[in-house]
Amino acid sequence: MDQTALQVARAVEAGATTMKGIVDATGLSRLKVERALSTLEKQKLLVRDAQGFRATGLPKTAPLTRQCGSCNACCDILEVAAVDKPVNQLCRHWQTGTGCTIYDRRPQMCRSFVCAWLQGHLDDEWFPAKSGIIVHFSQDAVNVTVDDHCPDRWREEPYFGKLAEWSLNGIKRIGNRGYATLVVSGENRYMLLGRTIVPDPTLFGTAFLPLTADTFRFWRATSPEHLQRLHARVAEIERIRQEFGSCAIPENEDDDPQAPYRPALLRLSGHA
Ligand code: SF4
Ligand code: SF4
Repeated sequence: MDQTALQVARAVEAGATTMKGIVDATGLSRLKVERALSTLEKQKLLVRDAQGFRATGLPKTAPLTRQCGSCNACCDILEVAAVDKPVNQLCRHWQTGTGCTIYDRRPQMCRSFVCAWLQGHLDDEWFPAKSGIIVHFSQDAVNVTVDDHCPDRWREEPYFGKLAEWSLNGIKRIGNRGYATLVVSGENRYMLLGRTIVPDPTLFGTAFLPLTADTFRFWRATSPEHLQRLHARVAEIERIRQEFGSCAIPENEDDDPQAPYRPALLRLSGHA
């Protein structure tokens, strides 16, 4: 994180919630503050909503001046299409003792890639060379890629607890400021809903309902229309919960509900 972004992050953490408040607290120009805010938003370090700017729950406990050092995990674990590098295969341009042999002309993805550990969001147990887990942030997701030598490491603590916590933070965000927490482990893809693991999430989205504070019931959509129907039924379940105090949740995970939802849900719940 550069100095300007760090100053702005500190000002928000200290309670500045408006542009004016941040400008006053940092002495930076509005333009610099705006740029830093965009960077911090992209990195999921703050959100902007009706109450102004807020620091997120993403941890900032680790030192901010880290080096990759002995790690070359991103040249090994991640996919880099520009050099035909598949996931979990050491890049053909990597050489022991030299590092990247095409460093000056390496692809843009390699130039711009910074993992969350290097950014200082994660404690040392997440050092990718040691954990076998690379976390990086994109505009709307926390992306977790796992070394195929330890494909289930992400399910272990302290990793799973932290990923579940981030997932809940992403779900709680308002509107399009939310983000997904996605795990790629070998051939497998997962999405986290708190501590609930959704295998093979579809491109069309997932409708979900909270069961406890950190677990969810989910339905994976098979088309945009299916997602709409699932969302409409979830909204009806929530209305019935408010009216009657409870609502039975349909069991079939891959069903395709058809309106009207209310009579069937009331019957299933014994409220009809
Ligand atoms: S995974 Fe992170 S720490 Fe490791 S080489 Fe890549 S950017 Fe550096
Ligand atoms: S091109 Fe260089 S930096 Fe990019 S993955 Fe290969 S070895 Fe790593």
